Amino acid sequence: MSFRKDYLTRPIYKWAKGALPALSKTEAEAISAGDVHFEAELFSGKPDWSMLRDMKAPRLTADEQAFLDGPCREFCDMLNSWEIDHATADLPPEAWDFLRDKGFFGMIIPKEHGGLGFSAFAHSEVVRYISSHSIPGAVTVMVPNSLGPGELILQFGTDDQKSHWLPRLARGEELPAFGLTSEDAGSDASAMRDDGVVCRGTWNGEEVLGIRLNWAKRYITLSPVCTVLGLAFKLRDPDGLLGEEEDIGITCALVPTDLPGVETGRRHLPSGTMFQNGPTTGEDVFVPIDHIIGGPEYAGRGWMMLMSALAAGRGISLPSQSAAACAMAAHTTGAYARVRQQFGLPIGLFEGVQEPLARIAANAYAVDAGRRLTCAALDDGYKLAVISAIMKYHATTRMRESITDAMDVHSGKAVIDGPLNYLQPIYRSLPIGITVEGANIVTRNLIIFGQGAIRAHPHLLDEMQALGEPDPDESLEAFDKHFWRHVGHSTRTFFRAWWSAWTGRGAVPKKAGDVAWVYRRLSRWSAAFAVTADFAFLTLGGALKRREMLSARLGDALSEMFLLAAVLKRWEDEGRREEDLPLVEYCAEQAFERIGRALDETIANMPDRWVSWLLRPTLLPGSRSRGPKDRTATKVAMALYEPGAARDRLTAGLHRPDPQSGLGLLETAFRLVTEAEPLRKRLREVRKTPREARDAGILTETEFAQLARVDEAVSAVVAVDDFTPEELRGMYRDYSPNPANPIPREAAE
Ligand SMILES: Cc1cc2nc3c(=O)[nH]c(=O)nc-3n(C[C@H](O)[C@H](O)[C@H](O)COP(=O)(O)OP(=O)(O)OC[C@H]3O[C@@H](n4cnc5c(N)ncnc54)[C@H](O)[C@@H]3O)c2cc1C
Repeated sequence: MSFRKDYLTRPIYKWAKGALPALSKTEAEAISAGDVHFEAELFSGKPDWSMLRDMKAPRLTADEQAFLDGPCREFCDMLNSWEIDHATADLPPEAWDFLRDKGFFGMIIPKEHGGLGFSAFAHSEVVRYISSHSIPGAVTVMVPNSLGPGELILQFGTDDQKSHWLPRLARGEELPAFGLTSEDAGSDASAMRDDGVVCRGTWNGEEVLGIRLNWAKRYITLSPVCTVLGLAFKLRDPDGLLGEEEDIGITCALVPTDLPGVETGRRHLPSGTMFQNGPTTGEDVFVPIDHIIGGPEYAGRGWMMLMSALAAGRGISLPSQSAAACAMAAHTTGAYARVRQQFGLPIGLFEGVQEPLARIAANAYAVDAGRRLTCAALDDGYKLAVISAIMKYHATTRMRESITDAMDVHSGKAVIDGPLNYLQPIYRSLPIGITVEGANIVTRNLIIFGQGAIRAHPHLLDEMQALGEPDPDESLEAFDKHFWRHVGHSTRTFFRAWWSAWTGRGAVPKKAGDVAWVYRRLSRWSAAFAVTADFAFLTLGGALKRREMLSARLGDALSEMFLLAAVLKRWEDEGRREEDLPLVEYCAEQAFERIGRALDETIANMPDRWVSWLLRPTLLPGSRSRGPKDRTATKVAMALYEPGAARDRLTAGLHRPDPQSGLGLLETAFRLVTEAEPLRKRLREVRKTPREARDAGILTETEFAQLARVDEAVSAVVAVDDFTPEELRGMYRDYSPNPANPIPREAAE
């Protein structure tokens, strides 16, 4: 008999049983499929900075760098975005062949299976590079290297599946697509009606145990051209051929698309971005049971497998594409702000333009910092369940912010579509990144904190597992142990958070140099976050899952802390460059404002008023952080406006365009304008036009000609496309509407 257990823990145990959600077997499996990393340090309220600082910066091998410099560049040179999106609706056939020949579809497949065996960082660099030139090109490469089904086979496939499928996928002989999303079920995959029934059937002339499949999927990338579908469906075994369970659950299988009953080929138009995407259906398609990825023992474990595969892919594809878009926004908008003049000045000198320019620069720095840290952790072997969700949401959200800022600064130049417009293809594709791999509202409101908390909290999962123990005595015993550890941890964190908030002190690692203040304040916010999250669990329990707005704010605070930690890491990895300090300062001030706001709003919206009375004076004394100062914003904007090391680092590793393309013209004009700056300065000093200055002998003929070339180059950049009505009609020719219009006329009326 123990006093603590019987008189203190037992009533709390009873309350917790009712308040905390029980973990289902599937949820428990899905949770165990992912790892935590530095976000768990931030969640603990006392981050161990040495974990972050000791991580090696990601690097490319010589082969990986050669692949970027060679095949990636060659592939991009084959693609013309305007033609793909407005004329051919596909990559050129020779580009498809090139992708197969050079192994692009097998970047994640190990060399022993015929793939390129690239690191996560190299994979990410390739996606980033191609995305800087062509979204259809990048998506085509991304999908086979992301969810699947290559990643699923690598993680769960049987030896036979690996030796059969991986070499064929690596060589591009088989082209995969992954079909999860149904006609009826989007974010809630558990609602799908696509099903498979275990039965006997004929395969290669023999009767074998297998599955009869029926599905109706939509939005499936590469489905119109794929040769094998990784299909997610609900498996049933009504005749007990596999075991006793009838409803086995979500299962993933490999389905060749040349089987009778499989329909692929029709296409969707995803935001006018013409990568291959479309619906697929299957009617009574039979596959043998060993087509289940991982074999029959993985029947019903599809959700866990998907979560595990997503933990890798979600951290790479969209964050890399977003990093490219953010870098492109920085590259182009900084240059355009320099070459475009209004009211006699380059527009980048107006504070109104500097404000979005600074946001663009900071997003480019932070998103790429997050991408690098994520890749480094993936390359250390972590399956990043929470970080990959943070990166998916925040990279795509910041990409959207940066591209709309870039559009605002470019104004008419970016609005008018045509081959010269280098922003429209990215702008059009923004909603795709927001929607796929976990639509962003779900990712923010349900996944980052909702699922992340269970994984990343130092004690919560142990407590939930203890509550789920079938034996009541063992359950109470285990709960008693974890609960009191939790109490000890929370009490220490509460006092540390209070002390830190009131004194401004917090843990700083050794030799933090110019960014010691950032570490200090981040340590303070980590403690405040941990306390707020604990009070949210305490007062809301399982109901927190339904309070999505609270959950989202807590997720925002965690994500901002993670991205800022990544910024610190990047700054150190790149050699603590003096010229990047304004960027770090901007990112830090922006993050502190957002974290403070997220916690303030969380506390204000907790259902119990006493929580607010306790936490507000403890954690949030004084006024809230106001975000980056104007003078910091100006310095950061100038990093994009002026050629230099800071600008080069923000925009490194992008595809170099054809000099005659819209982007190529901009690069030339930017170079000419900055080279001619001393001449412009001379003209400003003497208050003369170029012609007057030449006539007065202030400019030589050569200098006069140089300025004329600059004007010509700038005019070429500011120019936009126009078309004859016939040309436009040609672009939007015949189309055949879907014959299976799903709304009967009577229902519509
Ligand atoms: C271009 C494109 C390519 C795709 N490629 C593939 C692919 O290759 N394979 C594949 O399987 N799928 C693919 N998808 C599907 C994509 O992943 C799904 O679209 C996505 O899951 C969302 O489904 P939905 O569009 O039906 O939206 P819905 O699920 O209907 O969601 C509508 C809105 O409600 C929100 N929402 C839903 N539930 C909640 C909740 N509980 N709380 C808060 N908000 C909620 C969502 O965030 C969204 O904003 C693709 C989609 C597109 C558009």
